[in-house]
Amino acid sequence: MSRDYLDKLNDKQREAAMYTEGPLLILAGAGSGKTSTMTCRIAYLIQEMGVSPYNILAVTFTNKAAKEMRDRVENLIGSGLNMWILTFHSACLRILRSHADVLGYGRDFAVYDPTDQKTLIKNISKELNIDTKKFNPGYFLGKISDCKESRISPEQYAGIYGDDIKDRMIQRVYSEYERNLKKNNAMDFDDLLLRTVELFEKDESVLLKYQRRFRYIMVDEYQDTNQIQYQFVKMLAEAEDDFGDKRNNICVVGDDDQCIYQWRGADIRNILEFEKDFKNTKVVKLEQNYRSTSTILDAAHSVIKNNVGRKAKKLWTEAAEGSKITYRRLDNERDEAYYVASEIDKLAGRYNDFAILYRTNSQSRTFEEALSRRNIPYRVLGGLRYYDRKEIKDMMCYMRLVQNRADDLALIRIINEPKRGIGGKTLEKLRALASVRQQSLFEVLLDREVISSLSAKASAGITDLAEMISEFSQQQENMKLSDLYDGLLVRSGYMKALEDQNTLESESRMENLMEFKSVIYDYENEDPNISLAEFMERIALLAEVDNHNADENAVVLMTLHSAKGLEFPYVFMPGMEDGLFPGWRSFDRPDGLEEERRLCYVGITRAKERLWMTSAETRTLYGKTDYTRESQFLREIDRTLIDGDAVYENRSCRAEGAFRDGAAQAKPYKPFDQLRQARIQTKKAAEAMMKSSQEDFNLGDRIMHPKFGEGEVIELGKGTIRVRFADDTKKLALGYAAIKKIREE
Ligand code: ATP
Ligand code: MG
Repeated sequence: MSRDYLDKLNDKQREAAMYTEGPLLILAGAGSGKTSTMTCRIAYLIQEMGVSPYNILAVTFTNKAAKEMRDRVENLIGSGLNMWILTFHSACLRILRSHADVLGYGRDFAVYDPTDQKTLIKNISKELNIDTKKFNPGYFLGKISDCKESRISPEQYAGIYGDDIKDRMIQRVYSEYERNLKKNNAMDFDDLLLRTVELFEKDESVLLKYQRRFRYIMVDEYQDTNQIQYQFVKMLAEAEDDFGDKRNNICVVGDDDQCIYQWRGADIRNILEFEKDFKNTKVVKLEQNYRSTSTILDAAHSVIKNNVGRKAKKLWTEAAEGSKITYRRLDNERDEAYYVASEIDKLAGRYNDFAILYRTNSQSRTFEEALSRRNIPYRVLGGLRYYDRKEIKDMMCYMRLVQNRADDLALIRIINEPKRGIGGKTLEKLRALASVRQQSLFEVLLDREVISSLSAKASAGITDLAEMISEFSQQQENMKLSDLYDGLLVRSGYMKALEDQNTLESESRMENLMEFKSVIYDYENEDPNISLAEFMERIALLAEVDNHNADENAVVLMTLHSAKGLEFPYVFMPGMEDGLFPGWRSFDRPDGLEEERRLCYVGITRAKERLWMTSAETRTLYGKTDYTRESQFLREIDRTLIDGDAVYENRSCRAEGAFRDGAAQAKPYKPFDQLRQARIQTKKAAEAMMKSSQEDFNLGDRIMHPKFGEGEVIELGKGTIRVRFADDTKKLALGYAAIKKIREE
């Protein structure tokens, strides 16, 4: 059989691949062939050492990485192997499916996803009379997850955290949560790992069974393991051999510089102290990088060397110096996206050679737009395309409905969004009625007799909804598009529902909804009086889902976090600005900045041939524009490696006037403020519109209208006024525009 794959390795890699007994630590920088070495090691074990695939356990973090590893092994030695190359969670799930009864679960236990978890917490909160507005489910779930990761049971909670009122409440929720999970024969994601470890502790025979089975254990990306994952592999590896010695056939692979999940409990000590945990560990350090040009490698090094808490190491490469890193500082985020798209266009070639790696998901929108405009196919990995996101689709459906009340599909989507007490059955009934009467669903909603037959909640909810849509619909021409959006967001109750949830997830939905304001302002800037119909038409073109064949030849967009372990010939890192990257959140945690820097290192080292970095001098986020400062990481890169625009030590922006006094200069740039302001402004806009309905207008009053300007009241109606503007008179419903009196008659 061929041993080609071994010949292709360098000496150190080969040494590691062929070192099969006892603990082995491969500690090496990015792109040095850690994952390649591990896959070859699996092939070698099976093919040369006669190890049965059945005796091998290889674990990693994401499904994508697990699949890729399996594919690579199968490429080397053929497919159809009965081998566990899995994520931690799926390995544990498999084990528990066979033995959960030991812990008192049925083997057919359910796995609760975050939605199920939240529902459960909500029910518990209700029973315990907890104000869910003050303490939302996400708050408790975070605490519970922390406890489970540190193996603190509800009973131990008080002893560790104390027992003031708040702690006692958390303790009770936690304990009820656990009781309910057990009662429902269910586990959450944290449980999968935790219960497996408990199972091993409780029943030695089960542990022994898996210790006998998994004679060879391998873990990729070991730097990102948490305490429980560590215990899981340690217990399996500590099997005793025939002489009563610990076998410790465990091989872990990782890079302390690439630990980017501490915020989720990853413990970097696991890799730094591996040698202490497993006696006689063989350590192999790989120093040659095969992925990137020397320029890219040097840039990565010049950033990561600023981290204090790291093991010093430096990679080298035989690869050519390659092109310099291109840095461009663009005027704003639209120009940034336009520039990136035009660079991709210029180089043409295979689109899937290009990756755009950003810090936060909400950055994807401008790139999606710029790429679509140039007809460049793209796909968003590990996240949804901007216009496919639930909250964006929901709000677009509200707008579609305002534009066209006969749009049944749009109505069906939002009729119970936010919750209005309309269940599936009620909706079916209404639809059936509409179909019999050959009416649109909306027309049925206007039938008071039908609506009054529904539950009190549903009937009130639908009446409000129908009224609101009708009014917006009639007034759309008299409203600015941005007011229409703000108004819908507030009056539909959609924004409030998200605020009440107050979880990480609802926060990110809110971010996206506020980001949609940027879209609207963009169009209003071009044409202040753009109509809803025109706007919807232009967005529809962008949102077109089947624009291109998704998987094939497309530019990849994803966050820096999900790019771990991957590589691309051409990489773009946009948004190199303080506050965005490093992100403002990182300043709250002690090791926050260092973790962001590791993330930057991960990003740079994804590139094989060329790397672009960009920043925008002003960035509009959530419809608010602010000046930015170049990222500290950008400033850390050796200037000789950079081409393009100059990076300034302390440049706030070209327009110095923006920070006139010294104090303002020091003000850190905070997208967070922009988000908060955008939310306040949305509510204020909606309030200002409502206020006009309480105003006492008289004939002859001079007023100011946001869309039509100054005019004079010439007629008073019920809830309406007629106003003469410079070139037209309009009948306006009060409550749908912020009409201000400027002079009373
Ligand atoms: P990361 O830290 O990003 O996970 P890694 O250390 O796991 O990186 P790999 O993904 O295994 O690195 O390898 C990086 C690249 O180098 C791959 O394209 C791989 O094919 C190539 N490579 C690895 N070893 C060699 C070698 N000995 N000769 C030539 N190419 C190699
Ligand atoms: Mg790897």
